[in-house]
Amino acid sequence: MIERRQAAFLQEMGIGPVWRRRDVAPAAPPAFDDAEEAPAPASSISEIAPAAPLAGEPAHADVASMDWEQLKAAVAPCTKCGLCNTRTQTVFGVGDQQARWLFVGEGPGRSEDAQGLPFVGPAGKLLDNMMAAMGLKRGVDTYIANIVKCRPTDANRRDRPPAPEEANACMPYLQRQIELIDPAVIIALGKTAALSLLQLDPATPVSKLRGTVHRYAQRPLVVTYHPAYLLRTPGDKRKAWADLCLAMQTRDAAGK
Ligand code: SF4
Repeated sequence: MIERRQAAFLQEMGIGPVWRRRDVAPAAPPAFDDAEEAPAPASSISEIAPAAPLAGEPAHADVASMDWEQLKAAVAPCTKCGLCNTRTQTVFGVGDQQARWLFVGEGPGRSEDAQGLPFVGPAGKLLDNMMAAMGLKRGVDTYIANIVKCRPTDANRRDRPPAPEEANACMPYLQRQIELIDPAVIIALGKTAALSLLQLDPATPVSKLRGTVHRYAQRPLVVTYHPAYLLRTPGDKRKAWADLCLAMQTRDAAGK
């Protein structure tokens, strides 16, 4: 039975009445008018994700052999892409270095750039609540990272998604973090994170990303909405909870 504390966090996510975790896949959410946002039927393994990670990214043998301290030391002064010119500081990632759960967003925003930590501010608070609803806690068996480690901004200094070349330049760092962590499940937060990790066509609709267990370097990967999107679109929190249920079932099945 779901715990009272967990129920409170589900309420905090804006989900009510409380959904109880079950041993079977959650029922498919209702149909939606917007075909782009319509969820895909749940299936065991993605048919669209390539098995090999980071296709198109050249080998970075130096990064691939680094330990945590070497990796942090390499990221902090990095100038491999243009985002180095506008950052305040790099945002490496935070959490348990042996976590079973890895959450990946697209990139730091203004607050993250200022504090040097991923997912702070309102979106970070919602992510914390999403983790709490799963019985998880930031920093305990969880790790949080982004596709790029420097804040992407437009000409008006507003946050924007990373460009493909920026994501490709930064990906070896995240790839090495994933190898070092060796998580049981990766949760991609938002379309940009999912497409970057899975190396899919940018035109791939969200409907082909959610509700499916993808693979990244032989590890299961589940896609859900970015918390910032959920703050703007609270009606989709129920669908996000269905994604998190799929992720929990996937971890249980992995037995890790
Ligand atoms: Fe380096 Fe990544 Fe920052 Fe680009 S985004 S400068 S690759 S750390």
